[in-house]
Amino acid sequence: MSQEPAANAEKPPLKVVLCSPRGFCAGVVRAIDSVERALALYGPPVYVRHEIVHNRYVVETLKAKGAIFVEELDEIPDTDAPVIFSAHGVPRSVPEDARKRNFLALDATCPLVTKVHREAQILFKRGLEIVLIGHAGHPEVVGTLGQLPDGAVRLVETLADAQSFIPKDENKLSFVTQTTLSLDDTAEIAAALKKRFPNIVGPHKDDICYATTNRQEAVKLVAPLVDAMIVVGSPNSSNSQRLREVSERAGCKVASLVLRAEDIDWNKFGNIRSLGVTAGASAPEVLVEEILDAFAARYRIEAETISAAEEDMFFPLPRPLRPEAAE
Ligand code: SF4
Repeated sequence: MSQEPAANAEKPPLKVVLCSPRGFCAGVVRAIDSVERALALYGPPVYVRHEIVHNRYVVETLKAKGAIFVEELDEIPDTDAPVIFSAHGVPRSVPEDARKRNFLALDATCPLVTKVHREAQILFKRGLEIVLIGHAGHPEVVGTLGQLPDGAVRLVETLADAQSFIPKDENKLSFVTQTTLSLDDTAEIAAALKKRFPNIVGPHKDDICYATTNRQEAVKLVAPLVDAMIVVGSPNSSNSQRLREVSERAGCKVASLVLRAEDIDWNKFGNIRSLGVTAGASAPEVLVEEILDAFAARYRIEAETISAAEEDMFFPLPRPLRPEAAE
């Protein structure tokens, strides 16, 4: 460590600029509340397929309350306990398998991911080949690919992919996108597809959700003003990774993605006078506070907030978990 906690008078000053909005989005709140509510309604255990949201702290907290996390349904014994699908969405085969095994399945897929699934199904019914702009292997991409028969949706990850893509019929082509991508990269990829295939059918701009958009816009405002940026979030969180990339591209030389205060590499933050702070959509505010406390132990902090947007999005719980369903 380059610095040890010091008495307030001896601490160097640090201007902290908090990005707003940051942290939990409506889809994440709904997913976590779904597990909490299922635990309250049915009692533990509650099974959850995949990390309910990509944050280890959230997962460990729910585990302590009686949630059991699995990657696939075949890890679950025959049970009456609820089985919850994560916010990222699942291929169609998963609810089908759950039905065959008579599981009480509860779907916590974010409604904005479900919207992309529906778009893909409609485009498929119209006889269009579908390009999915997204990252291979991310559970949301696996879920969207799995809405339709093999080969109906083809993945484009990069600009190079878009430039070399060969459609079956360029007049019967469409695209959808993952919800948590970089706005700028996706715009570039979509523009390349539109240029090559002028008749391609797609969403007005892309399917990137409001939360991803607003968090990236806030980072773009703050990153040029600060010496370093901390993104609170998990390495496997797509929108958190994008926030780190957006910080760097917006001119912030040091951008670090950290899950907890103990993960901060203090060597990177030795000589800074200003720090931007944001958090991915799956990172709870309590972890932002923990990280601010760690900086406050080393620096005399003066904080301000820069806001890119107001958010008031709310998604109701899956129907069986709504209070009126229990009456
Ligand atoms: S990041 Fe966007 S798509 Fe993902 S859960 Fe949040 S609102 Fe939904």
